[in-house]
Amino acid sequence: MAWSIKIAQVANIPIKVHITFFLILGLSAAQWAGRSGDAVFGALFGIVLMLALFLCVTLHELGHSLMARVFGIETREILLMPLGGVAQLSKSPDKPRQELLIALAGPLVNVVIAAFLLVVIGIHPDLSLSNLLLDGAGSTRLTNDTSPAGLIYWLLAANVSLVVFNLIPAFPLDGGRIFRALLAMRLDHARATRIAATVGQGIAIVLGIYGVLSGNLLLALVAVFVFVGAAQETNGTQAKTVLVTRKVGDAYNKHSITLQNGDRISRVVDYLLTSYQPDFAVTFGGRLLGIVTREDVMKALAVQPNDCYVAEIMTRDVFKLSATDTLDEARDKMGEHNARVAAVYDGEQFLGLVSQDDISEAFAILMFVNRHHQLRAMNAQV
Ligand SMILES: [Zn+2]
Repeated sequence: MAWSIKIAQVANIPIKVHITFFLILGLSAAQWAGRSGDAVFGALFGIVLMLALFLCVTLHELGHSLMARVFGIETREILLMPLGGVAQLSKSPDKPRQELLIALAGPLVNVVIAAFLLVVIGIHPDLSLSNLLLDGAGSTRLTNDTSPAGLIYWLLAANVSLVVFNLIPAFPLDGGRIFRALLAMRLDHARATRIAATVGQGIAIVLGIYGVLSGNLLLALVAVFVFVGAAQETNGTQAKTVLVTRKVGDAYNKHSITLQNGDRISRVVDYLLTSYQPDFAVTFGGRLLGIVTREDVMKALAVQPNDCYVAEIMTRDVFKLSATDTLDEARDKMGEHNARVAAVYDGEQFLGLVSQDDISEAFAILMFVNRHHQLRAMNAQV
């Protein structure tokens, strides 16, 4: 995602934060500076609090990621945003049981953290709630408390909220996925998604109205986020049904320009100027030697003063797909290998190149055709 910065790498998974995260840190610092007698100390406390919360969110996402890894699904990255984290899986789980366990693993991490904090409170006499409330000005003291005890209670409340919030049965929250997985154990995947998405949108509307009426704008914002997420999930599933029925052999570019290994860069530049084709296969006697992309050409032009051969700048290691792979399999495989472009083969015979953009485009066209058919079918019934 744009505007995100990589801050760590855990278990081979890059952890990134969205740039707006620093805004949240600043807001928290400002809020706690106002609450504390010592503004600098309060601001530092606010920052530590927010960092601790985001650590809990990261561990939650790692819970999803490591459970997914058990089923052979890798995580491309974990992205932390102000409204929460997202673990981007390289593909979606095939079986409802897998989806169920992956969705449960995240909230379970927060249950474990909350239990750990409760144990810390239990074995530390100074941290008992009655102690805290008695020596201060009653319950309001707790929400303004910039002591280690205040931090622990705040984190405990935050982890409990994370569990409760994430278990709301609405996409894209974990509860929505758990609900869909449970339905999908009895119904087919598309139907289960439709029901879960509809229920999720209903809950989002109720949350939104409640948020607006009670003046809780954050809740209203979350409701919008949930409503949109549910719609995306339904579209994603419809997309999957289209993608599983079509083959890569239908989607690769049959009319693309192919380079010969003796061609020079200046020729590719001509092609780039006169066509919209971004990737070129370099062949010799019908055999694929490598690919040259628009970026390769730009880079070469920047560093190479003379007109060199395309064979000198091409990428030889090209990801391969079979023409009989479905578009869905192709998308998953390319996602797993981080391949933007793949070579399509019919057995040993090289057919052409297909990019992730080609697959998205094929899918958009097929969705349109599908909808058209559905409309015609509906009209036929009336
Ligand atoms: Zn989660």
